[in-house]
Amino acid sequence: MHTAKKFGGSHTHYDAGLLAKPTQHATLAHQHMEPIPATLVPGDGIGPEITDAVVEILDMLGKPFIWDIQQGGIAAARESGDPLPPALLASIRRTRLALKGPLTTPVGGGFRSVNVRLREEFKLYANLRPARTLLAGGRYEDIDIVLVRENLEGLYVGFEHFIPIDGDPHAVAISSGVNTRAGSRRIAEFAFDYAVKHGRKKVTIVHKANVLKALTGIFLETALDVAKKYEGRIAVDDRIVDACAMQLVLKPGQFDVIVTTNLFGDILSDEIAGLVGGLGMAPGANIGMDAAIFEAVHGSAPDIAGKGVANPLALLLAAALMLDHVGRGDEATRLRSAIDGTLRDDKVRTCDLGGSASTKDITQAIVQRITRR
Ligand code: NAD
Repeated sequence: MHTAKKFGGSHTHYDAGLLAKPTQHATLAHQHMEPIPATLVPGDGIGPEITDAVVEILDMLGKPFIWDIQQGGIAAARESGDPLPPALLASIRRTRLALKGPLTTPVGGGFRSVNVRLREEFKLYANLRPARTLLAGGRYEDIDIVLVRENLEGLYVGFEHFIPIDGDPHAVAISSGVNTRAGSRRIAEFAFDYAVKHGRKKVTIVHKANVLKALTGIFLETALDVAKKYEGRIAVDDRIVDACAMQLVLKPGQFDVIVTTNLFGDILSDEIAGLVGGLGMAPGANIGMDAAIFEAVHGSAPDIAGKGVANPLALLLAAALMLDHVGRGDEATRLRSAIDGTLRDDKVRTCDLGGSASTKDITQAIVQRITRR
């Protein structure tokens, strides 16, 4: 188990199992309902609008977090010349817990993705993306799938180069993937622990071990070995990634928790978000040995920034995951049921969900549901 000494944090300590195992401090915080120090990054584009909405709603829920507000991304680059300023890193090292608005990454040139740098800096090895149907009447009903993606290894390690031939500097492109036994074991244990903690029945291991026999074979072999420890409690099966992608649209009800490697997880998690109505309602958690960072899956949506129409629900659902993570499941449940009621019964929906509500309208509707009880 990781100790918090490394970062000198005295307030909150979470271990590698995180969502599965809030540590003593989280439990104490839960018992006494003390507010928990956390870093808040408003982010770029629609980020400040949706973080304002989330903070207002959490305040009504009883202020579970004390925010240390820090700039990152374009806003920070403008202020200090650095999109990932030392003050932001120091804050996350201290709180080990952050809610992050979307950050703009320049395409083609400019600075390196702040999201990737944060993942590496805090060794955020697990990317958790739960997706469930919130709005009836879509293409699928009753989707409830949790995807656990390995976040640091695989083809995303960036070991890439070109070989020039006959004057063409890019004649051949080479990329190497790296999956380790330890990394595969860590993410598989995370997925099975999550399944146990959250009353799930089955974990599906997704791979391409028929072709990438070493790179994804090691992942399958290790995850199957981990599964033995959970025999009798959590069922296990496995799918080749292409078959899994097809089965997800044909018969999504067969999936419960999916655990997979970095690139496959990146693709499948967006496919799964599509099954429940798109990115506007997809939350994500990046969890590691040193910290946990919660965010919406969508980006900074520059096309609608400043117009007051952004949907804050993905970031709000990320805040619910954050509440689960620190052992405040009751507040997470209250928050989720206020969101459900607002969408289903009050029918207050933003444009991306086919409605006409503004960010302020949906925020007020959720606040009313929370305060009504
Ligand atoms: P995007 O997710 O920002 O937008 C895609 C489309 O979805 C747009 O039409 C947008 O208006 C809509 N949309 C997104 N979120 C919405 C919301 N909450 N409510 C209503 N509509 C919403 O993707 P993009 O345009 O490809 O990326 C924009 C920027 O965001 C890029 O710089 C990209 O690198 C960055 N990005 C950041 C993150 C992150 O910080 N985690 C994730 C993805 C993209």
